[in-house]
Amino acid sequence: MNEKDVKPATIAAQALGWIDGETRGIVAPIHTSTTYIRDPDNQYRSGRVYARDHNPTFDQAEAVLTALEGGQRSLLFASGMAAATAVFQALAPGDHVLAPQVMYWSLRNWLMNFATHWGLRVEFIDMADPAEVRRALQPGRTKLVWIETPANPLWTITDIEVTCGIVHAAGAAAVVDSTVATPVLSRPLALGADIVMHAATKYLNGHSDVIAGTLTTRKESALWLRIKSIRAQIGGILGPFEAWLLTRGMRTLFPRVRASCASAQAIAEHFAQHPLVEEVLYPGLPAFPGHAIACKQMTGGFGGMLSIRVRGHGNNADDGERAAIATAAGVAVWKRATSLGGVESLIEHRASVEGLGTPVPSDLLRLSVGIEDTGDLIADLEQALSNAQA
Ligand SMILES: *Cc1c(COP(=O)(O)O)cnc(C)c1O
Repeated sequence: MNEKDVKPATIAAQALGWIDGETRGIVAPIHTSTTYIRDPDNQYRSGRVYARDHNPTFDQAEAVLTALEGGQRSLLFASGMAAATAVFQALAPGDHVLAPQVMYWSLRNWLMNFATHWGLRVEFIDMADPAEVRRALQPGRTKLVWIETPANPLWTITDIEVTCGIVHAAGAAAVVDSTVATPVLSRPLALGADIVMHAATKYLNGHSDVIAGTLTTRKESALWLRIKSIRAQIGGILGPFEAWLLTRGMRTLFPRVRASCASAQAIAEHFAQHPLVEEVLYPGLPAFPGHAIACKQMTGGFGGMLSIRVRGHGNNADDGERAAIATAAGVAVWKRATSLGGVESLIEHRASVEGLGTPVPSDLLRLSVGIEDTGDLIADLEQALSNAQA
């Protein structure tokens, strides 16, 4: 069998099968050098000058991701936020951009509070509605449309293919935050996206011990070259140890994501008709509004993220919120923490984090399903829900 014909799961497990040229090791070394020797005739034949532009430890992680996403190039960044903001920094003052009303909260805050100060015209719309996207696009002025699917923390699904078609017809670029879907479940570049972004802090690394971000492009466009130069000049790069850990984390991406998806699906189905639960938000449930689109653009599962709205048992408006906070307080197996995509399951009362102006209902708990025993996770949540009503 030709090594090039292998499936993505094989690419990930073997990290492309790279062998270290120096030692023949099957695991690459960590390069800590910040600078490279100049040849006596003043050339840099190694192609490397200084490690703010690039570090050889990035190469394998970037190549693995490029292969998994089916792109042309990838870049590692110091965080998901560093990756996402580099995209917007590559635009010019006066440029109009569209972003979803439901999206990762810190990026939404940055767009509202910083990007606008630089002269970007940011408009938040219902990105799941193609008619809204068509209405909001201003051909010639709109340069970029930011899509997140499934989107935090309501798991709103946007049709990538349909939306990218509309965006391109207006001459703008489409970027997809695919952190929650991962390359295991969704390949946005094949559906028309120009660039795909990941908070690699989450599933790609998978062990809650590295902060990192990535961008992968379908082709080396002018936008991409500006982003690349922004990373080199501003220096939002990943450290070599973290880049190495990220490569190691991606080797187990497929089994981790598959286990999380199977467990999340079982948990969503278990609590969907539960008397103490108002609503379960999960793209894998047939009743979920974006389910049909999710079936079309996600393969192998619907992700490891879901949210539950806890039912209040009194007549006060905040009963649901109090029951949700009490439920989060009562878990033992689930860990009460922010973030997602690690091997351990996390639970979080999102409205407390997002504060005023959040689209998130106050009775909502966000669940990041890890790879523990599914029965343990269900039993723990069951007892926390019933104790919260006591
Ligand atoms: C965490 C996250 C980010 C930001 O990533 P950081 O590494 O924390 O900066 C962006 N988008 C989504 C969907 C995320 O979950």
